[in-house]
Amino acid sequence: MENAMKVFGENVFTESNLKKRVPKEVFKEFQASQLGQTELSKASAEVIANAIKDWATKRGATHYCHWFQPLTDLTAEKHDSFLEPTGDKDIIYKFSGSSLIKGEPDASSFPNGGVRSTFEARGYTIWDTSSYPFIRENKNGVTLYIPTAFISFTGLALDKKVPLLRTMKYVHQQALRVLKGLGNTTSKHVFNTLGVEQEYFLVSKEMFEKRDDLLLTGRTLVGAPAPKGQELSDHYFGKIKDKVINFMSDVDVELWKLGIPSKTRHNEVAPNQFEVAPLFSIANLASDQNQIIMETIEKIALKHGLVALLHEKPFAGVNGSGKHNNWSLGTDDGINLFSPGKDPKTNTQFLVFVSAVIEAVDRYYPMLRTATATATNDHRLGGHEAPPAIISIFLGDELTTILENIALGKNSPVAEASQLNLSVDVLPTLSMDAGDRNRTSPFAFTGNKFEFRMPGSSSTPASSAAAINAMVGKVLSEYADKLENSTNIDETVQEIITNAYKNHSRIIFNGNGYSEEWIEEAKRRGLSNDTSSNIALRKMLDPEILELAEEIGMYSKIELAARYNAYAERYITQLSIEAKTLIDMVNKLILPAGIKYADLLATHIEKNAKYGEEFVKEQEELLKDVLSNISEIRKETKSLAEKVELVKNEEDVTKQTDLAREELNTGLEKLRVPCDNLEKVVDSSIWPLPTYKDLLFKL
Ligand code: ADP
Ligand code: MG
Repeated sequence: MENAMKVFGENVFTESNLKKRVPKEVFKEFQASQLGQTELSKASAEVIANAIKDWATKRGATHYCHWFQPLTDLTAEKHDSFLEPTGDKDIIYKFSGSSLIKGEPDASSFPNGGVRSTFEARGYTIWDTSSYPFIRENKNGVTLYIPTAFISFTGLALDKKVPLLRTMKYVHQQALRVLKGLGNTTSKHVFNTLGVEQEYFLVSKEMFEKRDDLLLTGRTLVGAPAPKGQELSDHYFGKIKDKVINFMSDVDVELWKLGIPSKTRHNEVAPNQFEVAPLFSIANLASDQNQIIMETIEKIALKHGLVALLHEKPFAGVNGSGKHNNWSLGTDDGINLFSPGKDPKTNTQFLVFVSAVIEAVDRYYPMLRTATATATNDHRLGGHEAPPAIISIFLGDELTTILENIALGKNSPVAEASQLNLSVDVLPTLSMDAGDRNRTSPFAFTGNKFEFRMPGSSSTPASSAAAINAMVGKVLSEYADKLENSTNIDETVQEIITNAYKNHSRIIFNGNGYSEEWIEEAKRRGLSNDTSSNIALRKMLDPEILELAEEIGMYSKIELAARYNAYAERYITQLSIEAKTLIDMVNKLILPAGIKYADLLATHIEKNAKYGEEFVKEQEELLKDVLSNISEIRKETKSLAEKVELVKNEEDVTKQTDLAREELNTGLEKLRVPCDNLEKVVDSSIWPLPTYKDLLFKL
């Protein structure tokens, strides 16, 4: 164990690996191609492929795969072995440049929203040179993974990576224009950086396997609350149980081997809920790394007799899991564009970039909302545990006052960072953050980055990063136009900051985002509150969103419409699966348990009635209660089954999402009530499912 950190990076093929293994010119060409300055030649690709193959086979790899990210928010892979026959009974290890660059999986069964029918099923996976190849070890072998983008035969984006790469390029171009406009002569590239915090639950594997709802839908569809939940706040940052820390240590080592700088680990708010966060990196790499983190958590958990739940809301009544995406822009020469510096008042560059974010979020907030709209995340947003579905920005008092002073010509005193003296000799004096952290805002300025807190724990961060890049990039492009045509830069800057604040400050909210008052206040400000994904998703097709996406080259109209279809279908399917799963569990497990217990009570009453009515009266009440829940369950099960059909038979996909929301969501909730009532009274030796107490407190 003492050498755990020495393994860092041993399973990933980074640039330094490449530099060691290929001629200088090839390496230079590779770097230029990464920045989009040239295209990698076939000859160089061949040399690089060879170097990667040599490295991987030395590490024991027998297979390689193109690794990609279809619209499922998961990853996909198809393996091929390196072995090639030579003709004279010998075999050799071979991996050509073309196998590195391009793969052709028959991809007709991935969600595509209708852009590709099975007769032109061909899809291409293209090597993403900006992310790192890596190897994964399993007990019986080793496989090389090549990160790739996934596109259709006709060049349409079929994955989550292509839009991210497109918008990273766009925001780079526009941010650089603004920087130049402000007089920067040194920076050559602007990178989108991303730091992703991942929350998850752990449950015992043995108990998990007894719950079809967890197995098939990722969340509990029934379950009475345990006598204890998170109300004592005794789990958050609490002492980590041995079983969990052992698991976490294994996860860290595995991630370090893959070059992922896993940094933070702790208990989260809900019982058996945890968080892991690596150091930030360039968005595309961070997004790939987050996929690896999710998969590693799941894999290692199994080794410890645990199952990791990445669902946004595995349990009703306790907090759900999010994925906080920390987003920023940084230059190749080390400037964080959202770093306020020592004196934010005079840091024009910082103020211009912050203004762009304010304006972008106010103008294009549906992009953020749609990027987080899934059936699973709906259970979380607005639940007094996660930000509401209303989009707003937290800036903190210091920054808000600075902007207000500039825009409105005011001269209010700015709350400077003050000293925190604890009057205890053994504790040093600290300088306090001027603005307290606000954990209730969906989009919070947190010192030198924005933290987007709406995304769900199971989603890929690629979607939200792409949305932010697109929106902010577009506003920056307009600022760049102004700066490039300006005869007085100071005046133009003043005008940019003033207009952004004056026209878009309704999006700034520094108060408690979980409060009822904010919902009312947001309404007065004209901000949308789309609490359900059926409504949020269709905003993808709002004219201004379509126009923006097309104008900046993020999506063509066809791609965006296809994505809407794919996500809408996923929404409907997920709810339908939940309904069918619950019906199945009810019929085969919950009803029989209820009936068994009713029979037990009936027999008991029959046997003991002879002693007099007063000795069985209460038991009869209980029996009646059990019987009425059984009847209710039957009634709601039949009704839910009809609703599944109703949704299935609707042909229009948008109407289908509305039906799914209205009928299935409510149907699931209604059926849950008598099931949970039953669970509260039925003999635990008869109850067939592990309870919330088992799942949340035992491991
Ligand atoms: P908290 O839980 O207080 O929000 P964490 O330390 O858990 O903070 O996570 C903060 C995340 O933000 C980390 O992944 C960190 O690397 C990341 N981060 C820090 N600076 C930047 C930056 N410039 N760009 C993107 N992410 C950043
Ligand atoms: Mg955090």
